Amino acid sequence: MTEHSYDIAIIGAGIVGASIAYHLAKRGCTNVVVVEKEINPGMGSTSKAAGGIRAQFNSRINVELSQMSISAFERFPQEMGVDVVFNQVGYLWIATRPEDLRLFERNVADQRKLGLDVQLLDREGVRRKAPYVRMDDVLGGTFHQKDGYAPPADYVMGYCKRAKEMGVRILLGTAVTGLIVQNGAVAGVRTAAGEIHAERVVCSAGAYSGKIGEMIGVEIPVQPVRRQCFVTEPIRELPHPIPMTVDYTTGVYMHSESGGVLIGLADKDEPPSFNENIDWSFVEKVAELAMRRVPILEQAQVRTGWAGLYEVTPDHHPIIGDLPGVKGFTLATGFSGHGVMHAPATGQLVAELLTTGRTSLDLRPLRWSRFREGDLIKETHVI
Ligand SMILES: Cc1cc2nc3c(=O)[nH]c(=O)nc-3n(C[C@H](O)[C@H](O)[C@H](O)COP(=O)(O)OP(=O)(O)OC[C@H]3O[C@@H](n4cnc5c(N)ncnc54)[C@H](O)[C@@H]3O)c2cc1C
Repeated sequence: MTEHSYDIAIIGAGIVGASIAYHLAKRGCTNVVVVEKEINPGMGSTSKAAGGIRAQFNSRINVELSQMSISAFERFPQEMGVDVVFNQVGYLWIATRPEDLRLFERNVADQRKLGLDVQLLDREGVRRKAPYVRMDDVLGGTFHQKDGYAPPADYVMGYCKRAKEMGVRILLGTAVTGLIVQNGAVAGVRTAAGEIHAERVVCSAGAYSGKIGEMIGVEIPVQPVRRQCFVTEPIRELPHPIPMTVDYTTGVYMHSESGGVLIGLADKDEPPSFNENIDWSFVEKVAELAMRRVPILEQAQVRTGWAGLYEVTPDHHPIIGDLPGVKGFTLATGFSGHGVMHAPATGQLVAELLTTGRTSLDLRPLRWSRFREGDLIKETHVI
């Protein structure tokens, strides 16, 4: 394909690979190629995301990744010259069980120590933030104004555009079929169109990362799991844009979308697979839970829906860092449904790691080996 040898090859032009490419270029590292199997960037999980961006997590590392990322999302239009609307209208988490309210209280105390301006709400506080919510069983909630939602595609395009302008090559329609490893060190990737030589390779292949690991006989514990979203016809009665509203008890979440509401729910019984077909029978369950929390939804028809893949690790946290045993192979994957919101921080941190060997945030908790060591990270706020 090419005699050219790159410093770095990135597998996957989703939001994570695109962000890494941009941040490398920003640091002056432009002899970089992004290899993407689809004909456009961002066509994997990124194009299916609900676009939620939040710092309200309970693991320290998730909060830190979000804090870094939210600042970057706020700067994005100026820094990238791309007009993206980040609806910073907050995430509202609703508790209907006393034990969840107690958990919320503990989480808010911890989050405040990390610098988040999170509010603990009583029933009246929830009602004021979300007058559209059915209140009879609501005990309280939490709210963080800097959370919100945005269209992920705009961020991918922004990152790719700037990365290309600075000299990064983005090869589309090119599937990686193998990794070149020589003397225990990665030396590039194989594709149907030929070999691409690179001193370092980054795996940001999302839900397909396990397959990349299989190419060199290494387990990358990332499982593909179908997740679905549905969007209603416009609902004029709602005060758009509403905060991302999450019923913690049922897991149903919703935010404004095209004048209507995007509704999502993780089916806990969904087995791992690459199935991205929409299951229209699931919409009934989602709609029932959503209408129970927000009665005005009874008046709205579901207009459309889609299915995509979460890229799930055993502890729902990403794997970011070098893979031990294969020199020059770095992982940035397994975001478990939080890859859009954590992409800016990931791009910066991986670029720091690759260019200096050091990172401004301690990435040890996210190391690949934690699964073998049994050192999993706990998180109470996964939807
Ligand atoms: C329904 C749904 C709702 C979601 N909601 C949210 C949300 O609100 N907020 C949030 O932060 N996240 C959300 N997510 C999760 C989010 O979409 C992912 O975490 C994120 O997109 C991961 O980005 P990525 O770049 O790692 O993966 P991807 O976007 O999947 O990118 C990986 C890329 O690698 C390419 N690739 C794979 N294998 C190869 C190969 N062999 N050769 C070349 N290229 C390859 C793929 O084609 C793909 O483009 C949601 C996901 C779904 C499905």
